[in-house]
Amino acid sequence: MQYYDITIIGAGPAGASLARSLGGEYRVLLVDKRALDKEPSNHIKNCGGLIAPDAQRALASFGISLPKSVLDSPQSFAFETVDCDNDIVQTYQRHYINVDRERFDRWLVSLCDDKVEMLFSTRYRESIKIEEGYKVTLLEKGVKKEITTSIIVGADGANSRVKRELLGVQKYPLKRYISIQEWFPNDDNINQFVAIFDEEISDFYSWIIPKEEGVIFGSAIEEGKNATTLHNLQKTKLKKYGYNFSNPYKRAGAFILRPLSNKEICLGKGSVALIGEASGFISPTSAEGISYAMLSGTMLAESLLEDKENFQALYLDKSKVLKQNITKKMLKYPLIYNKNIRKIVLKQGLGAIKNV
Ligand SMILES: Cc1cc2nc3c(=O)[nH]c(=O)nc-3n(C[C@H](O)[C@H](O)[C@H](O)COP(=O)(O)OP(=O)(O)OC[C@H]3O[C@@H](n4cnc5c(N)ncnc54)[C@H](O)[C@@H]3O)c2cc1C
Repeated sequence: MQYYDITIIGAGPAGASLARSLGGEYRVLLVDKRALDKEPSNHIKNCGGLIAPDAQRALASFGISLPKSVLDSPQSFAFETVDCDNDIVQTYQRHYINVDRERFDRWLVSLCDDKVEMLFSTRYRESIKIEEGYKVTLLEKGVKKEITTSIIVGADGANSRVKRELLGVQKYPLKRYISIQEWFPNDDNINQFVAIFDEEISDFYSWIIPKEEGVIFGSAIEEGKNATTLHNLQKTKLKKYGYNFSNPYKRAGAFILRPLSNKEICLGKGSVALIGEASGFISPTSAEGISYAMLSGTMLAESLLEDKENFQALYLDKSKVLKQNITKKMLKYPLIYNKNIRKIVLKQGLGAIKNV
């Protein structure tokens, strides 16, 4: 049975950043159920693919720049806010980079050292505690494969199996949302990003993101509510603001875990670590998660490289800054999500773009 020092489940921005930052130092296995080594992939990560300023700063801190091949279009600088509660629309200048999320993930994986072993189209099933760490069962293209590992890292996203199974986190302390995204032909030539706030639909938000191949309309609805009905109702209400969406050619769903306090972040225990959205790192105000994923992966790598025996304490310390960041975002919460305060902010129009 093959042995690895570190086995990473999930090769999204968190897992790929951890694997890249570990270099060739340990025997590392990177596993993902997606076919990240060939196109098209069997599974697609449901995401808007906007690289926010925090994620741009993270990339700058790693000293890496985005290649042209991962960019999508349009690259817009206009961000429209549609407040359905107060019937106000304002446009602001924002600096997001529009990427193709699948190409972005493939590119991050390609930056890993050649010594990192990768198993794609491979699903993580379970782990059993053994003396030297864990015996891990994987399903490689449906065929059972067992390996042993000293440390196991859950980088497997919001619905983390590693977290549920190895850390006994069965119930989600974080607030859970069902996110639906639909892709439409961009017949009306929408070329700005849009955020929609509407209490009748959700206490989070909905969004419009134009892409080269079409335009995405997405929404995040609290678990327990009828997500499909509310998502469709939001589309109907948007007609008033000039957005007409019918006949989607693609539809995808995903969970979003929304931390309402940084105490809900779970970094792991013993020889099990969590990074990225599996640990609960995501912006509570915008659901921006790519920066937290890349940064937490890199912080865990630094901790493992510094002292493999004591890595959990180091990781806890290094990632404090990410928890503080979530607390700061929580302070902005009423400005965005309290409709009365939002009305004052939007009516003032501070920083808004005026048509000239
Ligand atoms: C609809 C939607 C839109 C979003 N839009 C944005 C955006 O525009 N910008 C932004 O910054 N953030 C966005 N986010 C959040 C962002 O996508 C996540 O926070 C980010 O991808 C987290 O990275 P990660 O590496 O932690 O997890 P993920 O990107 O979810 O990666 C987890 C990986 O684990 C793999 N995996 C899961 N289970 C298993 C298993 N059992 N076996 C093997 N592999 C497994 C998956 O295939 C996946 O590759 C959005 C989220 C949603 C749901």
